[in-house]
Amino acid sequence: MPGVNNLIVLVVEDDDFQRLTLVQMLRVLGVQEVLEAGDGQQALALLSSLSPLISVVICDLEMPNMDGMELLRHAGQAQNPASVIISSSKDQALLDSVGVMARAYGINLLGVIKKPATLKNLGSLLDRHVPLKRKDVDALKFTLSEVLQGVSDKQFEPFFQPKLDSKTEKLLGAEVLARWYHPEHGLVYPYAFIPQLEKDDHIVGLTMLLLLEKAAAACRTWRERGLDLTVSVNISLASLNDTSIADQITDVVRLAGLDPRHMILEITETMIMQEVGPALENLARLRMRGFGLSVDDYGTGYSGLQQLMRVPFTELKIDQGFVTDCSTNAASRTVVESSIAMARRLGLKTVAEGVEGQAEWDILKAAGCDMVQGYFIAKPMDNLMFLNFWAANNANGNSHGK
Ligand code: C2E
Ligand code: CA
Ligand code: CA
Repeated sequence: MPGVNNLIVLVVEDDDFQRLTLVQMLRVLGVQEVLEAGDGQQALALLSSLSPLISVVICDLEMPNMDGMELLRHAGQAQNPASVIISSSKDQALLDSVGVMARAYGINLLGVIKKPATLKNLGSLLDRHVPLKRKDVDALKFTLSEVLQGVSDKQFEPFFQPKLDSKTEKLLGAEVLARWYHPEHGLVYPYAFIPQLEKDDHIVGLTMLLLLEKAAAACRTWRERGLDLTVSVNISLASLNDTSIADQITDVVRLAGLDPRHMILEITETMIMQEVGPALENLARLRMRGFGLSVDDYGTGYSGLQQLMRVPFTELKIDQGFVTDCSTNAASRTVVESSIAMARRLGLKTVAEGVEGQAEWDILKAAGCDMVQGYFIAKPMDNLMFLNFWAANNANGNSHGK
């Protein structure tokens, strides 16, 4: 485990025996330094004096004086919060809820361990710490003007993530995900620049004029080679409040030589819509021109039943938050299966995103989900690699392109 030996880990646990066991396990795993606290108050004192040095906090929930939930709330307010692993013997529904709470408080949650911890699950959660941290810190550094400079220097490129027929494993299309080839930082992911753009209404420029055109052009070239594929593009609902957008989108796509029927717009809702009228006008117009409309991140935030009822959607995309653990978490599985059943009755195609293993794929297939997308099939890749993926998928009788 390369990254673990320069970690400083704080164990917060009121039970002496359990705390000692965790400390010993961390030493066996090669952690550089282990600190201990018997309750939330002691932990908070250590965190406030040593904050940037402590990389990971392993935290029990039920403790005297200050419990784990309160500790997480305070810890989330720190300038540079440590990553957290929750360790508890409580039931799964409660642990899941506290997990959501921790993230809502701004905590980088590495995962939840149901007691007793094992070397294996402790080690694999600690492993998650290293790559995440570095990226997140970099992510926050870009200002809007840096992002716009990158846009005007043409440093943004679409990556493509395959969508497969869940039964035949045939490649049906790809979702476009924006990537920034930064001259110093290398490949930068959307979380580092989409929020800035969204806040200042410039997102429209990026998604539409640049990526939309590139995505449409890529799909046109696939189709010219005889590949019957669609392309999916993310559109933020916030960028649809100007009633001329539908026409601009249609023009860009048609000029790039693609019939709108081969493009699916994945609609994400990241804030409460103030003005529903213009967005609905745009979406109705886009649908009439032939674009597919997909409800993205279904089941989270503002992407729920009300959304579904008022927009002429053709596809429902179940959020990866439910898909990724549907083979181990009964509540997630229920959400996944009932969303698929509901979508079918509404006449919508279903896509599961965030498929990370065979067990999840099997559940989705059995539940009648039409399409699967996720790291288990392939990570997002550039256009050239995507064409290679297509060739392998085609040659292998669709044995997911590997
Ligand atoms: P999204 O639309 O929900 O996209 C799926 C995200 O999940 C992508 O992250 C993708 O790389 C990742 N992913 C795919 N398969 C798996 C998997 O099996 N496991 C896990 N853990 N993750 C998986 P990415 O590329 O970082 O994009 C993040 C978000 O940024 C997207 O979420 C989308 O909302 C937004 N975004 C990306 N490109 C654009 C764009 O051009 N315009 C707009 N408006 N938003 C964009
Ligand atoms: Ca999406
Ligand atoms: Ca999503």
